[in-house]
Amino acid sequence: MNQNKLFQLTRWRLAGWYVGIMGLILSLCGFAVYRAIAHANWNALDRELESVAGTLHDSIEPTLKQPGRLEAITQKLLPDICLALNGCVTQLENTQRHAIGAIHQGDYYVRLLDRSGRLIALAGLQPEGLYQTSKRELWQIHKDRQGTRYHQISLSLHTQDNLSWGYIQVGRSLKDLDNQLAVLKFILLLGLPVAMILVGGSSWLLAGLAMQPIYQSYRQIQQFTADAAHELRTPLAAIQATVESSLRMNKLSEKEARDTLKTLERQNHRLSELVKDLLLLSRMDQQVLPIKLRLTCLNDLVSDVTEELAALAIASDVNLMADNSNVGEPLYVNGDEEQLYRLLCNLVINAIQYTPIGEEVMVSLESSDRTALIHIKDTGIGITAQQQKLIFNRFYRVNSDRSRNSGGSGLGLPIAVAIATAHNGSIHVESKLGKGSTFTVKLPMHNSA
Ligand code: ADP
Repeated sequence: MNQNKLFQLTRWRLAGWYVGIMGLILSLCGFAVYRAIAHANWNALDRELESVAGTLHDSIEPTLKQPGRLEAITQKLLPDICLALNGCVTQLENTQRHAIGAIHQGDYYVRLLDRSGRLIALAGLQPEGLYQTSKRELWQIHKDRQGTRYHQISLSLHTQDNLSWGYIQVGRSLKDLDNQLAVLKFILLLGLPVAMILVGGSSWLLAGLAMQPIYQSYRQIQQFTADAAHELRTPLAAIQATVESSLRMNKLSEKEARDTLKTLERQNHRLSELVKDLLLLSRMDQQVLPIKLRLTCLNDLVSDVTEELAALAIASDVNLMADNSNVGEPLYVNGDEEQLYRLLCNLVINAIQYTPIGEEVMVSLESSDRTALIHIKDTGIGITAQQQKLIFNRFYRVNSDRSRNSGGSGLGLPIAVAIATAHNGSIHVESKLGKGSTFTVKLPMHNSA
């Protein structure tokens, strides 16, 4: 599968999962909010109904004298009362406004029933087709013909002689509550898809952002593998060509055989150096390379490197010098001597390689603000400002032919940078084309230094 497609697919999947999970969370939250609001409203309504019913009960009960019979005084207590006996057509003139204004507001109905459940009187709302119940359950819910729901409470009534009179049912229309809840449900149901669209868009963007560094490092690895394969192919092809041409010859003189073997050895050496460098870089990337930190004297290190590379400098006709005079006393860092040696070697070898005959390379030490500075200055070919940004990239060579001829693979500087970074240090370059370059290694100095 095309790698781009794989990343695209993964991005879709990530965004999809995110949308799914967020959808679930939002739905649960929406449901919880709905339930909480419904519950709170319902509780408030129950309390109100209970208090209206209680007040009515307490005002009616002392006026009742005979079971199932409604006294005139009782009738006056309820506004708009109609008696079942009269088919509920005789509306009693209500001279006295009832204390419970709610009955007036048209949200409530009151029913008085005798002990057998027969309707005695009605007041307040008279919902059409409301199921008449004689059940004495405390709380009930009924629906009228229009589908409006009513919440009803039933309380038993007693006469003044404490005989059972019947009971009072007070109901309240749930129309307002149901409407409010329906609007809330509508908002939540409409809000969820809108929220999901927003979540979908943002999760697509976020998934893209999250994948960006992975994609970049994947591309780098791909590039690295391709470059490494390319670098390995060159000496391998040379070995193959040397072997083939030797095999084609009928007879090989001893000198020819030696020459062939020398070529093979050179290419083989190049191959193993390359593999060593690749391994080192990959270990440094994985941070599995053990760093043996020890108190390391940079003055000694610089002397060792210049001594070791003196022969190379002489062979290249380059004047290699070390200058420790800038520091009064030895500079110490906490570092891996072997790796720091490698770092310096890479930089000094480069300086020698890219410096023409008769010119010079100077390695000097300096300390500034608890940082040790190693300068490798040459009067060589120099590097343009544009290329200075690229030379630390893996396999990058300014002039690949020249570099390859001198055995360079474009890994020397990346390895040096990796070593410096592992020591919490850095490498900088200052250069002018045709004038020379100065590479500066900065390393934190040892505490006791
Ligand atoms: P190489 O193995 O090719 O030397 P490096 O990573 O060490 O690879 O260097 C990368 C490139 O940087 C080199 O190809 C060379 O062009 C440039 N370079 C490095 N050091 C110097 C220097 N002292 N002077 C001029 N160019 C340099």
